[in-house]
Formats: sequence, C-alpha cells, structure tokens
Amino acid sequence: MIPYPVDYVRATSVPHALALLSNDAEAKLLAGGHTLIPLMKLRLTHTSKLIDIARLPELLGIEVHADHIEIGPATTHAGLACDARLRELLPLIPLAANVIADPTVRNRGTIGGSLVNADPSADWPAIMLALDAQMEVASINGSRSISADSFFIGFMSSALESGELLTRIRIPLPGPDRVAYRKFRHPASGYAVAAAAVALQYSDAQCTGGRIGITGVAETAFRPPAAERMLSEGFSGTESDIAHLVDVAFADVKPLEDNFADSAYRIHLGKVMLKRALVDAATHG
Ligand SMILES: Cc1cc2nc3c(=O)[nH]c(=O)nc-3n(C[C@H](O)[C@H](O)[C@H](O)COP(=O)(O)OP(=O)(O)OC[C@H]3O[C@@H](n4cnc5c(N)ncnc54)[C@H](O)[C@@H]3O)c2cc1C
Repeated sequence: MIPYPVDYVRATSVPHALALLSNDAEAKLLAGGHTLIPLMKLRLTHTSKLIDIARLPELLGIEVHADHIEIGPATTHAGLACDARLRELLPLIPLAANVIADPTVRNRGTIGGSLVNADPSADWPAIMLALDAQMEVASINGSRSISADSFFIGFMSSALESGELLTRIRIPLPGPDRVAYRKFRHPASGYAVAAAAVALQYSDAQCTGGRIGITGVAETAFRPPAAERMLSEGFSGTESDIAHLVDVAFADVKPLEDNFADSAYRIHLGKVMLKRALVDAATHG
C-alpha cells in the first residue's frame, strides 16, 4: 500500500526533536522505521509529520561507566549484537540482539523504537526486565527515569507520555553472574511466540537470586515474582527444581492467542523456553 503524504523533518538535536514534537500533537518520532512505516502503510496509524531521530549523536552508541552501562535508544539491534564490551559485561544483550528477525531488520531497527513500541512479542522488553534497566525520558518540561518494571504497561503500550522521547537506557553493573535467553521464533517474522530471559546471581556455586523476563506469551512482557523468589530460596538447578519453578512462573498468566499459537500452546512454549533458559544458565551460564 502506498503511504499517505506526510511532512518529514530530520531533527538536529534532542531539544529540536522535543520542540517539534510539542508543536504538533500528530507528529511522530521516526527511528529505524521498521514498525512505524509498515503501520503507516497499512493505515493503522496516522501522523502529520515524521521527526527523524535516527542519526542524532546524543541518541547513539554505548557508554560503559563504573556502575552502569548507557545505551542510546537509536542504537541498532546489529550495533548491540556485535559490541565486544557488551559481550563481556552484559552478554544477555548480544544474545538477544542476534536472534531478532534477520540482518535487514537488525541493521535498521533500534532498541529504543522496540521498547517504546512495547510489542508483546518483542525481544528487548524481556531483556530489560531481566537486567533491571532504567529508561531515561525527556520532554520540553524536563526529564524523568522509569524502571523497566513500570515501563511496559499493556498491549503495545509503554509508560511514555505524549511529547516524551526515550533518551537513554541505563543498565546497572556489575551484571548478573549467569544469563541465558531462549526464544521460540515465529517462522515468518522471527518475533517471539514465547521467549524467556534469565539473569542469575551466584555466590560460590549457589544461586542467590535472579530476575526473569518473559515475552511473547501475554499482552505485555512480564516478570514472574513468585518464581523469582524461588531463585533466592535454595534454587539448585536440578530438573525437579526447575520444573516446579516453571509451573509457578506460569500459574497466573493470561496468555495471548492467535492463528499460530492458541493459549495452551503458548503457555506450553513459554514453559519450555523458561526451562531451557534456566538449564542453560544453571549449568553453563
Ligand atoms: C519483518 C520484521 C521482523 C521483526 N522481527 C522482530 C523480532 O524478531 N524481535 C523484535 O523484538 N522485533 C522484531 N521486529 C521489530 C523491529 O525490532 C523494529 O525495529 C522495532 O520494533 C522498532 O524499532 P524501530 O527503530 O524500527 O522504530 P520505529 O518504527 O522508527 O518506531 C517505532 C515507534 O517507536 C517510537 N520511537 C522510536 N524511537 C523513539 C524514542 N527514542 N523515543 C520515543 N519514541 C520513539 C516511534 O515514534 C514509533 O511510535 C521486526 C520487524 C520487522 C519489520
């Protein structure tokens, strides 16, 4: 389908992008365009103006600090997949980046666009939940920080308000001791039908706690709190321990359903992905 006519402005700075955004209630930010442009072509979203933020230096790149890593939201999935510092300090990020879609999508799509879009089948929400990320957002009225736990608020819905721009993603260091990501890909798109991210802390050989992020299964990515508590209560990584934890994790989940996976199959896939991720992390992570 042919897109409708729309104004296009390339922002020259974050304040410029924010000013443009505040002047036009129908304007939309454009990053990689891999979600927004298809939605426009299908007439599923409307905008009067596209504000291109993909090349803004303030929104690009990865910075390592003493106690955290900062990621610019316009950094592409491919940029995150191949960063040597991330592979060493936060290997969950390259693990996930490498299984997003295909090289074309990874070369254009951005982590910020994905997080703001909050697709229930996207990979990054599960990873940000598992890594306890903070989202820095700005508007013409100032800035604020939103934890990943509060960021994904519903189906295709993030906590970002109108006129706000995601400016930075902060992830605490040191990262978890052992991590794993397991994903059942939709055969056509590569999106997660179900996926589980696991981030565990160890002291000597004992798991002392951890975080779990699940995506694809429910209307938004989520953490299973009761299952996470079990990680700090003598979790041994044995088959029976993992099976019990996985059952607890999905006990109260309201699953999505579509032509590819009905609710029972989706829960089944979620359980299998979490089980495999826990085995990976507990035995090799
Ligand atoms: C064929 C295909 C397969 C895909 N497979 C996967 C997959 O396997 N896993 C996966 O996770 N994703 C997948 N995606 C989605 C892909 O990762 C997109 O790149 C991503 O969802 C959106 O990022 P973008 O940079 O393209 O954002 P855009 O399309 O440019 O923007 C998306 C939305 O976010 C807003 N936005 C963008 N940046 C900001 C910002 N900094 N602040 C505020 N708002 C912002 C835009 O205004 C828009 O509303 C797939 C996409 C396609 C087309």
